[in-house]
Amino acid sequence: MRTSIFDLFKIGIGPSSSHTVGPMRAASRFVAELDKAGQLDRVACVLAELYGSLALTGIGHGTDRAVLLGLSGEKPEEVDPAAIEAIVDTIRAEKRLVLLARHAIPFEESRDLLFHEDLVLPGHPNGMRFTAFSRGEETIASNVYYSVGGGFIVQEGEETNAQLECLSVPHPFSSGAELLERAEGNGLPIWKLMLENESALRSEQEVRERLKEIWSVMDACIERGLHTEGILPGGLKVQRRAPRLLRKIQARPANDPLLAMDWVNAFAMAVNEENAAGGRVVTAPTNGAAGLVPAVGRYYRQFLADASDDGLMRYLLTAGAIGILYKENASISGAEVGCQGEVGVACSMAAAGLAGALGATNREAEHAAEIGMEHHLGMTCDPIGGLVQIPCIERNAIGAVKAVNACRLAIQESGEHRVSLDDVIRTMYQTGLDMQSRYKETALAGLAVNVRDC
Ligand code: SF4
Repeated sequence: MRTSIFDLFKIGIGPSSSHTVGPMRAASRFVAELDKAGQLDRVACVLAELYGSLALTGIGHGTDRAVLLGLSGEKPEEVDPAAIEAIVDTIRAEKRLVLLARHAIPFEESRDLLFHEDLVLPGHPNGMRFTAFSRGEETIASNVYYSVGGGFIVQEGEETNAQLECLSVPHPFSSGAELLERAEGNGLPIWKLMLENESALRSEQEVRERLKEIWSVMDACIERGLHTEGILPGGLKVQRRAPRLLRKIQARPANDPLLAMDWVNAFAMAVNEENAAGGRVVTAPTNGAAGLVPAVGRYYRQFLADASDDGLMRYLLTAGAIGILYKENASISGAEVGCQGEVGVACSMAAAGLAGALGATNREAEHAAEIGMEHHLGMTCDPIGGLVQIPCIERNAIGAVKAVNACRLAIQESGEHRVSLDDVIRTMYQTGLDMQSRYKETALAGLAVNVRDC
C-alpha cells in the first residue's frame, strides 16, 4: 500500500488536477531540484514542452499558466487563486520569469513553452519535459515528468507506482477483498481501519485536524460556488448555474420530496464551477470530479438525521479507502482511462463514504462502491474546447445523485452481490485501456467535436 488519504484529498486550484496541479508541481519540482543542485543561478533560459493530452487540451485546462506559476516556485496548495491572474499577466507583459521567485530569466511563451500535439511520450499520455540551459547554451538539466492523474506526478526513471515504497501501516490492503478481510479480521469498520493506518503515519490528532481542514475547504468551495455569479473563463461563455439553482430551490415548497436531490445537484455544480474558474478546490480524487465528494458530504450533513462531525470523518475515511484502491489498481486519470476514472471513481468513493457515515456494514459499503462504478463503465472524457466545463460540471451533479442512489440501493440489500468491487475496478481499467485515445481528454472526439464551442 503506497497511498495515503492525504495524497488523494489534496488542497489545490482548478481547473484540472492532471493538467493544472500536476504540471505546476512538476515545474516547481524541476526548479527546486536545480536549486538543490546549486545550478539555479547558472540558468539562462528554460524550455518547457508539453506532450499528448497535455498539449491537446492544455490551454483549456490552464496548463500554460500552471507551468509559468510552477517555474516561479508557486505551489497549488499555497498559491492564492486571486493572485494568479496578476502573476501570469506580469510574466507575459515583461516576457520575464523569476525562477523560484529569485532568479530572473527571459521567457517568451511562443518560444519557450511548446505544445507538441502530435507527440506522446512513452510513459503516459500526460507527458512534459523541462530543460534548463546555461548562458553558453549548455544543457544544465533536462527532466521528463508524467502527470498521472489526481495531481500525482512521476519523474521518468523514477520508481513507478508499482515500485514505490510501501507505507508502514498496521492494516495494508491491495484489493477490495483484502480490505474487507483485514477489516473484518480486526473487527473494524473500514473508516476505523483507515484511521489506524493514517495514524501510523502521523498522530491521530493530526489526521483528524487535516481531515477537518479538507472538509472546511470543500464546504467553503460549495458556498463560494453557490453565491458567485458570472461567466466562466475560457471562451465557451458558460454561465455559472449554481446561484440560479439555489434561488429556485429556496423558492420551492419544503415538502417537495425531491428537494434534497436538487440540493445535491446545486452543491456539486457549485464546486465544479469554482473549479472551472480556477478557484480553491480539493482534488477528490481529481479536480474534474471534485464536486461529488463535497456534494454528497453536504447532503449527509444537511439532510440526514443524526448527521455529525464524526459521521463526516467516517465519510471521508471510507471514501479515501475506496479511492486508494482505484489509484493503486487502475487509474484516476481521464487521459488514461476516460471519465470513468474521474467521475466514476468519485461516485464510487462517495457512495461507499455515505454508507460508512451511516454506519452500514463493510460489505454494504463495498457494494455501494461497486454500484457507483458499475454504472459509469465506459464513460469517455470529451470536454468541449478542452475546458473542464461541458460535460464536466453537470456530470458531477449527475454522479453525486448516482452516488446517493448507489448507497441507498446497497444498504437495502444484504451485502451479497455478484460483481465485486475488485471485478469492477479491473473492468474499468481494462475498458479504459481499450478506449480509443481520442476519447481520453484530447477534445478530438465525442461532445468536443459534435457541439459547436462558441
Ligand atoms: S469529461 Fe470527465 S475526465 Fe474529462 S475533463 Fe471532464 S470531468 Fe475530467
